[in-house]
Amino acid sequence: MLGQMMRNQLVIGSLVEHAARYHGAREVVSVETSGEVTRSCWKEVELRARKLASALGKMGLTPSDRCATIAWNNIRHLEVYYAVSGAGMVCHTINPRLFIEQITYVINHAEDKVVFLDDTFLPIIAEIRGSLPKVKAFVLMAHNNSNASAQMPGLIAYEDLIGQGDDNYIWPDVDENEASSLCYTSGTTGNPKGVLYSHRSTVLHSMTTAMPDTLNLSARDTILPVVPMFHVNAWGTPYSAAMVGAKLVLPGPALDGASLSKLIASEGVSIALGVPVVWQGLLAAQAGNGSKSQSLTRVVVGGSACPASMIREFNDIYGVEVIHAWGMTELSPFGTANTPLAHHVDLSPDEKLSLRKSQGRPPYGVELKIVNDEGIRLPEDGRSKGNLMARGHWVIKDYFHSDPGSTLSDGWFSTGDVATIDSDGFMTICDRAKDIIKSGGEWISTVELESIAIAHPHIVDAAVIAARHEKWDERPLLIAVKSPNSELTSGEVCNYFADKVARWQIPDAAIFVEELPRNGTGKILKNRLREKYGDILLRSSSSVCE
Ligand code: ADP
Repeated sequence: MLGQMMRNQLVIGSLVEHAARYHGAREVVSVETSGEVTRSCWKEVELRARKLASALGKMGLTPSDRCATIAWNNIRHLEVYYAVSGAGMVCHTINPRLFIEQITYVINHAEDKVVFLDDTFLPIIAEIRGSLPKVKAFVLMAHNNSNASAQMPGLIAYEDLIGQGDDNYIWPDVDENEASSLCYTSGTTGNPKGVLYSHRSTVLHSMTTAMPDTLNLSARDTILPVVPMFHVNAWGTPYSAAMVGAKLVLPGPALDGASLSKLIASEGVSIALGVPVVWQGLLAAQAGNGSKSQSLTRVVVGGSACPASMIREFNDIYGVEVIHAWGMTELSPFGTANTPLAHHVDLSPDEKLSLRKSQGRPPYGVELKIVNDEGIRLPEDGRSKGNLMARGHWVIKDYFHSDPGSTLSDGWFSTGDVATIDSDGFMTICDRAKDIIKSGGEWISTVELESIAIAHPHIVDAAVIAARHEKWDERPLLIAVKSPNSELTSGEVCNYFADKVARWQIPDAAIFVEELPRNGTGKILKNRLREKYGDILLRSSSSVCE
């Protein structure tokens, strides 16, 4: 017997429709590339998105057509998100920091029909335009601009396009299983791979990220996604903000600590999301200018491991709760969040801090397990390290245009991470499988060593890599950035680890550099560090720290 309830489709258009109807006046604020601030509201966003959707239809686009964006976090990018997906087409967000060959590759692989671009990225698109045979139109996300048109003849002005749209356009019926948006993984090796989200997976993901034990989003929040809209849809915030009717603050390109500190204060941001390196910048700026970010209650840290020292600093100095979260493009991206269970409430502050270092537990809708190299499930005892596998409502089934069935293993997605899971389901990332150090048959977590190094008062940034070793195959090598004027030595740093990890886990050597190489999403490029420093222990006869 079937249930007798309505079966409304879980579609993206309905999110912005809801925001316009019930939270229409709630602000959407956008920092432009010029630094100017644009103020809009959900009602206006929805109207302009519908007009844009209608204009795209008039251009001859049809459902499932892909439209690319290469843009900062700003209001027009948000309108394009809703216009394209709401109309049943697929919004393909491009990471501008990919190599130019990769940008060409993803546009061609996605068979994008339209490319929306912020003026910052005009030179990139102008350069590759001749290699993009499938693209019918390029839209500059601005008013008509004669300089830009001179650089790229035929460029359509975004505001002209919206002007051609119909106010009375209504969102079409779309099946919730249809594709809604497309993100490519950064592809440190090989070509980027496309992850094609559906309306259903996106709406379920939004509902979950809004829940109290995840990010706890509400209509009273002012949300600042520092994580880019070209990186896994800014962790879903453009959708979840509309779902709950929050104020949304889109920071544009200025993501340095001082700019963010100012924006948090001026807009009353209550929750901000980003990778650890962004928060390092914010904390350094605030330590310098004495700002306290009074409105901020939570910071969501993901993308890389959040060092314990950062959790402590946010909590002790600013009274801000750090929500440590883990995810990946293939999980839309949300997989776990670190929020306590009932029996954690009475833990001591130190025990709580220790618990907070974990990447947290999965919400309803995601399941995790760890397996050994033979695929056998490992115990969830908080100690056994294994390959982390995931499945759930917003987890990938197949990569875009890949052979069906070639992505999963027995119905589970292999994340490429090595992790432990404890009896409460708290998962702790030890490493990317390719980064973990295999020293004489033992595994050493680079994430754990980095978290310790970064807490050293004279270290501002740190990476640990596996350096080749004659006897042990691999040994940990610390590569660190010292604070200005510090006279810290390699030996002192290694000694610093002595009472914090087992002796065999202490890095063999420490090297100081000016800066660590990072990719477009703030992750340290460990493959580049391995290429440069991977043989260093073979060359030196004894370890620097001995
Ligand atoms: P890309 O694949 O484009 O680098 P993703 O965001 O998909 O970007 O990267 C996902 C990976 O980032 C995860 O598999 C994991 O290795 C790492 N990661 C994400 N969040 C965390 C976290 N909180 N702690 C440690 N590693 C993390």
